[in-house]
Amino acid sequence: MIPGLIDSLADITSHRDRDEVDRAIVAMLFSHIRPGRVCLYRLLPGAAEGAMEARGVQLRAVADAAGARTPPEEDPSDPQGWPTVDSRAPWRECVRRGDVVHYLGDEGEPGSLNSVFPILADHGLIGLLEIECAGRCMSLRPEDVRLVQAVLRILRNHLSVLDYGERDTLTGLRNRRTFETMFAKRRVFRRRAGDQKAGTRTNWVGIVDVDRFKAINDTFGHLFGDEVLLLIARRMQETFRQSEALFRFGGEEFLVILDDADESGAMKAFERFRTAIEQHRFPQIGQVTVSVGITRIDAYDIPASAIDRADSALYFAKEHGRNRTLAYEALVREGLLARKAVQAAELELF
Ligand code: GH3
Ligand code: MG
Ligand code: MG
Repeated sequence: MIPGLIDSLADITSHRDRDEVDRAIVAMLFSHIRPGRVCLYRLLPGAAEGAMEARGVQLRAVADAAGARTPPEEDPSDPQGWPTVDSRAPWRECVRRGDVVHYLGDEGEPGSLNSVFPILADHGLIGLLEIECAGRCMSLRPEDVRLVQAVLRILRNHLSVLDYGERDTLTGLRNRRTFETMFAKRRVFRRRAGDQKAGTRTNWVGIVDVDRFKAINDTFGHLFGDEVLLLIARRMQETFRQSEALFRFGGEEFLVILDDADESGAMKAFERFRTAIEQHRFPQIGQVTVSVGITRIDAYDIPASAIDRADSALYFAKEHGRNRTLAYEALVREGLLARKAVQAAELELF
């Protein structure tokens, strides 16, 4: 038992990709406890002040007799489609208590006891782990509960190390290093069945750059500059959807991967953010504005070309008044920018 256990723990902490970490966790718990099924859920990030109960819950890994797997991705374009913590009494209770909850399974075998555990990270609750009992394991034994809790503590430590390498320390947004992986995952946009507008909807990249930021630093000092960056990151988290990836790309530049939109929808989303900043009153400083350049992500896009296109739209915005959002595709259509040569993913051979 012990060498097998240690092997499994070594396996969990060998992964850098969160989906792989999640799969290793459910696989490990399934093989050591042998319940009916183990499910790992992540809470979708909500607005800072939002109630925990209202947050979406997304299934990220399942293990049962058929093995451990990541379920096919649900449509990220429709966060309303995800169940919330509130939608199931044991989840709600587990989140409220911050501790394991055992409950009678209504779907599984009659008389079997299921258990749901909170998954904690340094910054609070990030998910739920549910163990459905069946067959020879009708409920968790006290030593099983301790095993799950110990494994979740190891998960917490491992995620905290991963976060340290992937998050920007000032704003908590993702840093540049994770962009390529996120981009690759979102390059191919999965369409909803029967989506009439499918042909024109894709994911988008937008680069946000603070206008005349150097002047803010020079006038008010770096501490105020940093505070502006932090507040912009907060507005960003409130404006964009829970599922959309937000990055601090360096200095006073931010980047957003926007899900599922046609050109006018993408423009609207970024304009909503730009106006939110324009209207925000920053302590001492007053008004701060941002310029935004956006571009469509094509199926064979590479990160460097998408950034290059968004950057050229951003540069155009900077040259033509600042405090505006411009799309590369529109600028090309209007003859204001030259179309860039297409670099396809297949060319990334080195
Ligand atoms: P533009 O409207 O053309 O973007 O003008 P700008 O002044 O924002 O552009 P520029 O690129 O010339 O200046 C960016 C400044 O951002 C330079 C540097 O002082 C400041 N900066 C970069 N990173 C940080 C940071 O982490 N904290 C603070 N406080 N300032 C930073
Ligand atoms: Mg800049
Ligand atoms: Mg700037």
